Amino acid sequence: MPPNSSSAAVNATNLKDNEITPIEIPSKNKLRWYEPETKILWVNVIFIVTLHVISLYYFITFPYTEHKFLLVWTWITAYIHGFGIVAGAHRLWAHRSYKAKLPLRIILALCFFSTGQNSIFNWVRDHRVHHKYTDTEADPHNSHRGFWFSHVGWLMIKKKDEVRQRGRGIDMTDILEDPVVQFFDRYFSIINPILSFVVPVFIPVYFLNQSLKWTIVTQIFMRYPWLLNITWSVNSFAHLFGYHAYDKSIRPTQNIFVSFVTGGEGWHNYHHVFPWDYKANEFKSFWFNPTSLWLDVFHKLGLVYDLRRATPDHIEKLAKRKGDGTRHSQQEFSQKAVDCSY
Ligand SMILES: [Zn+2]
Ligand SMILES: [Zn+2]
Repeated sequence: MPPNSSSAAVNATNLKDNEITPIEIPSKNKLRWYEPETKILWVNVIFIVTLHVISLYYFITFPYTEHKFLLVWTWITAYIHGFGIVAGAHRLWAHRSYKAKLPLRIILALCFFSTGQNSIFNWVRDHRVHHKYTDTEADPHNSHRGFWFSHVGWLMIKKKDEVRQRGRGIDMTDILEDPVVQFFDRYFSIINPILSFVVPVFIPVYFLNQSLKWTIVTQIFMRYPWLLNITWSVNSFAHLFGYHAYDKSIRPTQNIFVSFVTGGEGWHNYHHVFPWDYKANEFKSFWFNPTSLWLDVFHKLGLVYDLRRATPDHIEKLAKRKGDGTRHSQQEFSQKAVDCSY
């Protein structure tokens, strides 16, 4: 996060909130979302477009009333896999906002590798670059390029030299030294497809006598693209729509919709200001941040420790100085909207 134009490495474990102002790397060319600045990755384009066309067809035509169990199974797997992204890749590995004992790190890696996304190393590096150079030319999904670029377009073109160069300057020592990450990343090409597509199909078909065809449809053409879009929504919706309660000088926003669908990742203005806060949100809220509740449960079980949290005084001062004045209305919303605040 430091406002540092050098390529000096950032130690993510020592980030301070006064280091969060992103550096300014002015855009050389004002490009629109459909004007690729670098080489188009046609394999990615064809894969993503085909996946979404098939997915859209099944979301419309799926016989929802006949396969209720599969829908429940799809929701359960999406929730567990999503937890691997939010609590694992994001809050644990990318931001070190808490520490986790070995059994939980293994569980989180299993969940994350069930999403069919990236290796932990690549995911974390891209995310740290995003935080350090937010919405500049060095941000892989710079939201100045528009909604579609920040949502999915950035995956369809080669990364810009600026992004790659700055990525190489990110300190990834902690990730390289984590034996769980080492193991899972080393066998990424084997573990990833097995956990993402074979296991979630095999369990209901083999043990619960579910239809092979409809299980494949729900897992590969519904759950998988759904989770991809939810992940991408943080980079698009939560950088373009919402309030700036903690810092109005940056683009990340407080977005309730994203918070709901991601399990707590839409409090993105707060998160960019306090990236090391394990709750990624100031206020208590079950429906809009269940990930934090689970981390508290794991803390009670002794699997999670050294949870990092911004102090109310600190937050108050910063929000008063830099926020857009919507913090208190969000506090009221959090208290009213959720009966089961914890
Ligand atoms: Zn962001
Ligand atoms: Zn983050």
